Amino acid sequence: MSNIKVSVHEGDFLELAVGSTVREALEALLSNKQRKQTVAAKINNEIVDFTTVLTADTVLTPVKTDDAEALDVLRHSAAHIMALAVREIFGENVKVAIGPAIENGFYYDFQRDEAFTPEDFEKIEARMEEIVRSGLPFTKTEMSSTDAVKKFGAEKEPFKTELIQELGRDTVSFYHVGEFTDLCKGPHVPNTSFIKAFKLLRVAGAYWRGDEKRDVLQRIYGTAFFDQKALKKYLNALEEAKRRDHRKLGKELELFTMQDEIGPGLILWQPKGAQLRRLIEDYWKEEHYKHDYELLYTPHIARQALWKTSGHLDFYSENMYSSMDIDEVQYQLKPMNCPFHIGVYNSGKRSYREFPIRWCELGTVYRYERAGALHGLMRVRGFTQDDAHIFVRPDQLEDEIFNILDLNLHILKTFGFGDYDIYLSTRPEKYVGSDSNWERATEALKLAMEKKGLDFEIDPGEGVFYGPKIDIKIKDQIGRSWQCSTIQVDFNLPERFQMTYVGKDNAEHQPIMIHRALMGSLERFIGVLIEHYAGVFPTWLAPVQVRIMNITDSQIDYSEKVYRQLRKVGFRVEKDVRNEKLNYKIREAQVAKTPYMLIIGDNEKADGTVTVRLRDGKNLPAMSIDDFIDKIRAEVVSERGY
Ligand SMILES: [Zn+2]
Ligand SMILES: [Zn+2]
Repeated sequence: MSNIKVSVHEGDFLELAVGSTVREALEALLSNKQRKQTVAAKINNEIVDFTTVLTADTVLTPVKTDDAEALDVLRHSAAHIMALAVREIFGENVKVAIGPAIENGFYYDFQRDEAFTPEDFEKIEARMEEIVRSGLPFTKTEMSSTDAVKKFGAEKEPFKTELIQELGRDTVSFYHVGEFTDLCKGPHVPNTSFIKAFKLLRVAGAYWRGDEKRDVLQRIYGTAFFDQKALKKYLNALEEAKRRDHRKLGKELELFTMQDEIGPGLILWQPKGAQLRRLIEDYWKEEHYKHDYELLYTPHIARQALWKTSGHLDFYSENMYSSMDIDEVQYQLKPMNCPFHIGVYNSGKRSYREFPIRWCELGTVYRYERAGALHGLMRVRGFTQDDAHIFVRPDQLEDEIFNILDLNLHILKTFGFGDYDIYLSTRPEKYVGSDSNWERATEALKLAMEKKGLDFEIDPGEGVFYGPKIDIKIKDQIGRSWQCSTIQVDFNLPERFQMTYVGKDNAEHQPIMIHRALMGSLERFIGVLIEHYAGVFPTWLAPVQVRIMNITDSQIDYSEKVYRQLRKVGFRVEKDVRNEKLNYKIREAQVAKTPYMLIIGDNEKADGTVTVRLRDGKNLPAMSIDDFIDKIRAEVVSERGY
């Protein structure tokens, strides 16, 4: 038998027989200690596991437990172990589907008549623990697809059979761990003892192949790590995210509600949520006006023909709702505001002197989202974009992008987002517009970001077909990233709508259009804000800034006077003059996360003062009402900027 040369990168090579496995190679090439930290290996950037057979000269790069890629291998392996445990406990009544690694963990889909319960989770985890401790190896075999279909047919595993038939290969590979055999291409950890820390998290319904017409399976989610400390850290972060969940806080703080009767993905803003939204909208409008934008309002529906011209019917129809008949003409709900702003542009003759034209609108759009994809405020069917369209000459593009970034980052900063990742997406394979326009526009975006001193990453080929774009992902207080702002150059719509302006040369030219949203949508942005602040809004944004509470009935009249005075100067105030104990009133105000509680007793009434209690439990000394007004005013100015 001939030999092959195998080495660990840049190390000495070793001669091994053809057909040796990665396991054998690494046993010979690595020390014991190194091997214990090696989960898999990379060959030409592809991750393979210890079972892989070597047939040619190979350079192996060990994948160690502290490499990012190792976690995926570990988690996918944990999915097999979970399936083995489920099989051992629940027997043949459970059918197995698929079990991949996902971001932060893994899942496995099972078909079982009864629902998995928390007690089942305990049993499964306990059995997994035993499997992990016994250090069972993952081994691999291959079989012809025909035999594999027969095997799974005999075992009455319909999902596996379907997968093999769909793969359409001559042979398929199997991995075995303990008594469980799974159709899989790997890679896995060498043996189960690598899984030092794991936890099952939840169970949810999931359609087989994501198809709503197919069987609903039970998807058990879990996570796994190489050490307990990392698992604990992750579970704490999950706990913190749960505490901040905007759906939970939205309910507790009475911000918004959704009802079946209204329809999924449609938001009802309650008074406090509506107040929060108004504060954001007012600030947004004022900032735009200061930055030379003009405000537009446009309708929610338009003739279908408009959406044909814009290209939405051809390229975006799966996101649009069906048409409605009005006087025998078809109309459709708008999924975007762009064609309306173009309508305003085309309502008159435009000259180069007017440019840049900056038009903004808080425009409500409707887009179809699958029911299963809807999520609180984050993914809805009707939402309001903080939209703007800017029309420029080619020579103005760089300066204008700079202006947009400036306003964008300024607004984000006011909401407490100072940390972000920025991406520049360049020309995709399919595109409209000339190569020279694309190059010039991409260069303009780059230069504007450099001028603003921003670090950015390039996403090659990820631009939209109509132009390059900048995406900004903001980081919240606990370090999670949220895609919010997008700035997109468009060569397509000006062409489709035959937009022109008269240039200096008196000839007609085509403007460049920029689409831009800073917050993305108000719904999503407010969802992010709720989680960012954990519902503890700064005073300028708090739907209720002050709650006045009396100690006994004898201060009702004075409480009313303070209430009137604060309302008159524009503060958002509530009063609680119920016949309840003060502690009870304070607790309620704390749950509502109201920044200021004004406590009014006989002394305050006699002195014309208020005693101020903060939501963190601190008390300030009694102060005059005017001093309190000055204090809040100063605070709002420092938070909001004016
Ligand atoms: Zn596998
Ligand atoms: Zn647009």
